Amino acid sequence: MGKETQNMWSYAPALEGTGHLTIQKKYGLFINGEFVKPNSGKYFKSINPANEELIAEFAEANEKDVDLAVKAARTAYDKTWSKMPAKERGKYIYRIARMMQERARELAVAECLDAGKTIREARDIDVPLACNHFFYYAGWADKLNEAFPGKKPKSLGVAGQIIPWNFPILMAAWKIAPALATGNTVVLKAAETTPLTAMILAEIIQESGLPNGVVNIITGAGKTGAALVKHPDVNKIAFTGSTEVGKLIQKSIAGSGKKLTLELGGKSANIIFEDAPLDQAVEGIVNGIFFNQGHVCCAGSRLFVQESVAQKVIEKLKFRLESLIVGNPLDKNTDIGAINSKAQLETIEKYLKIGKEEGAEMFQPKCDLPKKGYYCPPTLFLDVAQSNRISQEEIFGPVLAIQTFRSIDEVIQKANNSPYGLAAGVWTDKGSRIFNLTTQLRAGVVWANTYNKFDPSSPFGGYKESGFGREGGLHGLTAYLKFD
Ligand code: NAP
Ligand code: MG
Repeated sequence: MGKETQNMWSYAPALEGTGHLTIQKKYGLFINGEFVKPNSGKYFKSINPANEELIAEFAEANEKDVDLAVKAARTAYDKTWSKMPAKERGKYIYRIARMMQERARELAVAECLDAGKTIREARDIDVPLACNHFFYYAGWADKLNEAFPGKKPKSLGVAGQIIPWNFPILMAAWKIAPALATGNTVVLKAAETTPLTAMILAEIIQESGLPNGVVNIITGAGKTGAALVKHPDVNKIAFTGSTEVGKLIQKSIAGSGKKLTLELGGKSANIIFEDAPLDQAVEGIVNGIFFNQGHVCCAGSRLFVQESVAQKVIEKLKFRLESLIVGNPLDKNTDIGAINSKAQLETIEKYLKIGKEEGAEMFQPKCDLPKKGYYCPPTLFLDVAQSNRISQEEIFGPVLAIQTFRSIDEVIQKANNSPYGLAAGVWTDKGSRIFNLTTQLRAGVVWANTYNKFDPSSPFGGYKESGFGREGGLHGLTAYLKFD
């Protein structure tokens, strides 16, 4: 970065305080309403990826622990939750939502520390959206017959839920809220690198007086997740994570009768037409791929710009990248926080190397990265070919592969040329063009003149290798119900 630019964009630090957050040294498993020691006797560490400091130790659940959690969920289902009038169930869900709001600052800071995401996003997006999911589904709890008239919706039983590390508290809310509203009980496994907010949620749930065993939250590694998937007394598996693990899960439960939803990876296309408001589109591109360090399943990681405006858009984009602040996630000025783990940073760096080897031109703004912690500057790859690995494979980091196009047919064909089909963005002044594209793009969500916008009432999910089933909205209820 030139001196001039650096001065233009430097701000005094504005660190969010952490004094209001009490983190325990060691967390047990939340089973049957209590925090218990794991049968395994083992604990693992979660660190802050922004400075590599220890956050806390978390229990590693083994098969026996998973079994105890599932038994607690089964007993709670049979004896309490399935018998409770729906409107009473709804009251508990509202209470959890309100209590999360009361502890919103704690949750936001905890998420920032454990996951490396910026405080701005944790505070303004993750936590409010997580609360809103509980509020939204609380409202449906006693209206299921109205939601599905004449279809006699019934709960499934025990839901086993497995979540990734990119939106820890939000994913927990996406999973737990609809399961409870539809009368199911839950065993949720948090991701290994981000268990902290799940355990704070467990404290909230305990304090809310929700009957014991209705929600059980366990921590551990992939093996813990696999034990939950295989448990014979689980009726439904809801998984969000990589396509690779999703395929393993699908194989492992084939023929078991367990209901399954899979929310998997993506390589989503963000498409800019020449008549688009270009400055807004540039902000949309930045938000689409650099938001949450690119740790977003629906990140707009493939950019398609119409040839006539390509040079202009790329110039604007490069200029904008110079102003992005990469650094301490707790600083309110930070735009791009820490990469979630060392392993994920290594994956991203592997792809940077692949991109260069494939002959694409790499652009990174000059920025000083903190000495400790895991960081990656925002990165553009220009002159990318359709067949390049950087335009086909999910990188899950702040890396954008850029291509150009001339006609609508060409861009539709290019955008759909992907094993994934999670999301897409279309930027144009022309409404009819938006509708033309939304019907032809094979993507679960298509944003028009915006990107990465979420709402509890709107269903989310993928095509092809991005998975099946929908979360959010009425569709999200269906995933936890059976019908006569
Ligand atoms: P991952 O490795 O698939 O892990 C996801 C979860 O599954 C974690 O809790 C993980 O535990 C657990 N797990 C690992 N192996 C397992 C197994 N054999 N059986 C059962 N559970 C197992 O994915 P990730 O790398 O953490 O997350 C990133 C991926 O998630 C990306 O591909 C991204 O696109 C996808 N994602 C999709 C959505 C969506 O809605 N479509 C949303 C967010 C993320 P550990 O943490 O202990 O490994
Ligand atoms: Mg961590």
